Amino acid sequence: MALGSETIGRKLLWSIALPGLVVALLGVGHFSREARQAVREGTHLEALALAEAVASTFTLPQAPGAAPHGAVADVLSSDTRLFRSVEDLRVLTPDGRIRWSRRPAEQGHPHPEAARLSATGPETARSSEHGTEVVRPLGGPECSGCHTGQAAQRMGVLQVRLGEPTLHRQLQTVFQDALGAMVFFVGILALVTWLSLRFVLTAPLKRLSEAMGRAADGDLLVRAEAKGTDEISRLGAAFNGMLARLTSMKVEEIDTHRDLQLVKEKLALKDELEERLRELSLLFDVARSLNTTLELDELLSRITRMVVERLHIPDFSIMLLNEEGMLEVKHAWPQGRGLEGHTFAIGEGACGRAAQTRKAVYLPDLTDSTSIFARRGLRGGSEHGTLLAVPMVHAETLLGVINFQRPETASISAEEIELFTAVADQAATAVTNARLHAETVKLTLTDALTGVPNRRHLFQRLDLELARAQRFGVPLALLMVDVDHFKRLNDLAGHRAGDETLRRVSDVLRTRARKVDTLGRYGGEEFVLLLPQVSKTTAVEVAETLRRAVADSVTLSRTGLPGGHVTVSIGVSHFPTDATSQDMLVDCADSALYCSKRTGRNRVTAFEPGMEVHPGRERSINAPPADAPSTPPAPPGIAKA
Ligand code: GH3
Ligand code: MG
Ligand code: MG
Repeated sequence: MALGSETIGRKLLWSIALPGLVVALLGVGHFSREARQAVREGTHLEALALAEAVASTFTLPQAPGAAPHGAVADVLSSDTRLFRSVEDLRVLTPDGRIRWSRRPAEQGHPHPEAARLSATGPETARSSEHGTEVVRPLGGPECSGCHTGQAAQRMGVLQVRLGEPTLHRQLQTVFQDALGAMVFFVGILALVTWLSLRFVLTAPLKRLSEAMGRAADGDLLVRAEAKGTDEISRLGAAFNGMLARLTSMKVEEIDTHRDLQLVKEKLALKDELEERLRELSLLFDVARSLNTTLELDELLSRITRMVVERLHIPDFSIMLLNEEGMLEVKHAWPQGRGLEGHTFAIGEGACGRAAQTRKAVYLPDLTDSTSIFARRGLRGGSEHGTLLAVPMVHAETLLGVINFQRPETASISAEEIELFTAVADQAATAVTNARLHAETVKLTLTDALTGVPNRRHLFQRLDLELARAQRFGVPLALLMVDVDHFKRLNDLAGHRAGDETLRRVSDVLRTRARKVDTLGRYGGEEFVLLLPQVSKTTAVEVAETLRRAVADSVTLSRTGLPGGHVTVSIGVSHFPTDATSQDMLVDCADSALYCSKRTGRNRVTAFEPGMEVHPGRERSINAPPADAPSTPPAPPGIAKA
């Protein structure tokens, strides 16, 4: 900008000074030429006038006795101011001799140019750079008659030569001075113009340009000078006005931008809130759906269905930590790939790492790290896509791992990871609840001391087995087992020893029972064993085996029992042989047990019709059922009532 304004100043300077200089030079040159011309013409006329004047002196009458043309010659010889320019003044005789000259030494000598001068006809005047020469014939009528006669035909010649006049030289000097003065004046003019341009134009323009430059760089608070009323000041004022307008526009723009930003933030917040709401609603649905069942298997099915449908996960598996501390696949989608039941160690693969670190493991591209399923050659193992393994942790207890998989690479977003983690947390809570429920159910159906089904569970199973036996027409035997002299054992060895005795007896009975049999604690030291699909004879044989096993394996010191051997008495009843209802079946077994007690204990008794009923019981077996078959003969070693 500075260079530009400088250029404008210089341009203006040159546009003023140079033409001025040229005009001045041209003017001086012109006037010089005109003056020279005027001087030349003046010299020409002066030479003619002088020649005329000199010639006219020849007409003057001569005083008698005076030297011819003496007065005139004196005048002409004088060096007056009038003749100062006269270089030559000669009078030539017709034969070319110098008759008279302002330089007396020449007189009498022939003129070197006599031929040229004599050849000249009438008066001639010739001007050159050096002066003017007038040649005029003399003699004849203009003379005063002195030479009349012989000289009438012979003319003399007057030669007058005027050199460059002083005036001309003075004028030249003047013009030279004028030229110098002009150059000086132009120089002064240029300097003054430059200074005034600098102060009036260049400097204000430079300041304005600087202000504009700062404004262009973004400083909208800068202002240009606008004090005066000239164009630059008005330009500055206009620029300031424009800047003020720009500033207010900028402020408006900032306000608008801020408003826009606020709106954008609100919109983003709204979007985020909507997204959160959607996620919360999804989580709520998940929680509600998962909390509607306490059955673990049903729960896992629901988790699978919900993840596939609501979270759009086409490839999914859920693993639970089993008793061996391995991750076992419980459910997988798509089904039928045979993944269920496979186990993985903690730390093995992405799921193992998730379980180990208890943090989600995200693999955006499975091509880099083949899934553990694929490594084991299972069909469920996709080699492409994205995998997210999220641990299921509840109250700092690891329950398992959920694997979310999509076939596209990097297809699970950060928000989804958050959501899936929350789903895994919900699932962990639901699994915990289901397990707690199962545990509670187990507790309500199990005898706490011996771990076998309690009386309630026992009767549920009795109901079930009896219904099945009736429906399918298969037999069912019931063995009622009572520890002999248990009260005395308690009294002598203590109740803790009594408890231990009950545990050991139940262990002996349980380990010898089949899987399909049901052992339950009926009362204090009484157990019931249900034997589905066995004949009465077989049931009695089993009872005898059990009796012997107890007597052989359960011993306790300080019991007062012979040899410390704990023994049991057993009563056997049979469907449909002895009874057709639950109560009857129990009463029959009870009567048979009572019989064992009465006949010496440590023995097995099969029920027989007419058997004495236990005195503490209501008789439900007054008469044997009409369809009851006749009592089979008791096997050897089996007590008979
Ligand atoms: P019998 O040979 O005729 O069966 O005599 P018994 O002493 O075994 O029978 P009784 O009915 O007189 O005594 C049963 C005792 O069992 C009474 C009770 O204190 C005891 N008992 C019941 N339940 C438990 C239990 O859970 N633990 C212990 N230690 N004792 C129990
Ligand atoms: Mg008893
Ligand atoms: Mg007893």
